[in-house]
Amino acid sequence: MIELKKYEFWFIVGSQDLYGDETLKQVAANAKIMAEEFGKDPLLPGTVVLKPVAINPPGIRRVFEEANAAPRCAGIITWMHTFSPSKMWIGGLSINRKPLLHLHTQFNRDIPWAAIDMDFMNLNQSAHGDREHGYIHARMRLPRKVVAGHWQEPEVRRRIGVWMRAAAARQDGIESVVLRLGDNMREVAVTEGDKVDAQIKFGWQVNTWGIGDLAGRYTKVSDAAAEKLAKEYESTYELAPELRSPGPGRTAMLEQAKIEIALKELLEAEHAGAFTTNFQDLHGLTQLPGLASQRLMEQGYGFGAEGDWKQSMLVRAAKVMAQGLKGGVSFMEDYTYHFEPGKEAALGAHMLEVCPSISGAKPRLEVHPLGIGGKADPARLVFDAAPGPAVLATVVDLGDRLRMILNDVETIPIPHPMPKLPVARALWKPWPNMRDAAESWILGGGAHHSAYTTALSAEYFIDWAEMMDIECVHIDRDTKPAQLRNELRWGEAYWSGR
Ligand code: MN
Repeated sequence: MIELKKYEFWFIVGSQDLYGDETLKQVAANAKIMAEEFGKDPLLPGTVVLKPVAINPPGIRRVFEEANAAPRCAGIITWMHTFSPSKMWIGGLSINRKPLLHLHTQFNRDIPWAAIDMDFMNLNQSAHGDREHGYIHARMRLPRKVVAGHWQEPEVRRRIGVWMRAAAARQDGIESVVLRLGDNMREVAVTEGDKVDAQIKFGWQVNTWGIGDLAGRYTKVSDAAAEKLAKEYESTYELAPELRSPGPGRTAMLEQAKIEIALKELLEAEHAGAFTTNFQDLHGLTQLPGLASQRLMEQGYGFGAEGDWKQSMLVRAAKVMAQGLKGGVSFMEDYTYHFEPGKEAALGAHMLEVCPSISGAKPRLEVHPLGIGGKADPARLVFDAAPGPAVLATVVDLGDRLRMILNDVETIPIPHPMPKLPVARALWKPWPNMRDAAESWILGGGAHHSAYTTALSAEYFIDWAEMMDIECVHIDRDTKPAQLRNELRWGEAYWSGR
């Protein structure tokens, strides 16, 4: 469902017409070799499109105009092979609407000690050409990523690839709809927010459909279609014994299959990439979409519970960024703490809706009462999340702006069975430690809902926030709450009203 190769990244190599045709031909030839090698490297998931060497203001402006008008163009990579006076770039940069990566590299890796002469120096002068280029970005206060190092280094390629994935998620966000089924959970503050502001900043089209739009489709799904989907469940998950033969459990499972079919139809009809539900608004449905939400997340849709459209779209963005990578992405909620000294950890889960892409083993399909909302017992997948490094990401609306908050965590094996807890769950130790992570997250106003991922590091979200021009607070191994409190206060001066 998510295709990253369709996104183009325009590679614009800068020079000037001072050096003569021979030099410019060499610049173009070297740029072509680089673009071709980038195109073959799986670390770079998008399509690299080489543009003519940029040598004068009209040409530079034109390529940025073309990029703005190209829906497939998800970002621009610039690199100055020679010196390329930056006043030439102001016209283009001032109209640019695409994410920018400044690649600070050099075609040759080594200095040819015995052969080097002034011609070589003039051809290979990104060491100062890129400083001129970086200056104009800084002078114009442009959001961008700077990646320095030789272009053949895997680490340089990896960092370009991270940025490409973030840029693909940005472009996907502009093109897709967040389908809200009902409104936010009553009285909850953090799931609210300015949808107009979010669309201006992120491109997200956040709109509401009545639950009746889903219920109407749901009543039309045939029993045969539900049974057919149930066969897929049987081959994919470990079914609880009471779900394998006719009875209330199997009936509940088939109800979720009908909800899944109807919900997918609705998402496709509305070209939605993400959706929200609200257990307070289920008129016409027998169950809260549990298994259905889990399975649609697994297929790449963003999801937010209780009307949380911000986290729904963030889960979708993370799904795009993580496409083809090892690990998973899920909607998540900080639920319960374990405060045993030395073994502190947070238990994350939700009422039902955790994505099986983060599971460490084959999920079990079970039916249990919900205990909230007064509806029938919903079917859901139950599993423990796979251990390993993970990131929690959330976006909150501070009234005058949006803030992203990240926390690096280490998901650990769950040390004891929890036979009475019928939901998917993850147990993690947050960095730098439970106390400082929780205090920092709370000082930053971080939500109880988040996007949880084992496929992405914080770098992806930091790149995404940079291209969205929003504040990003990263709680990592070095975070100190007292210092963070000051940074948040300084940030007020920088971010207010942006
Ligand atoms: Mn919740």
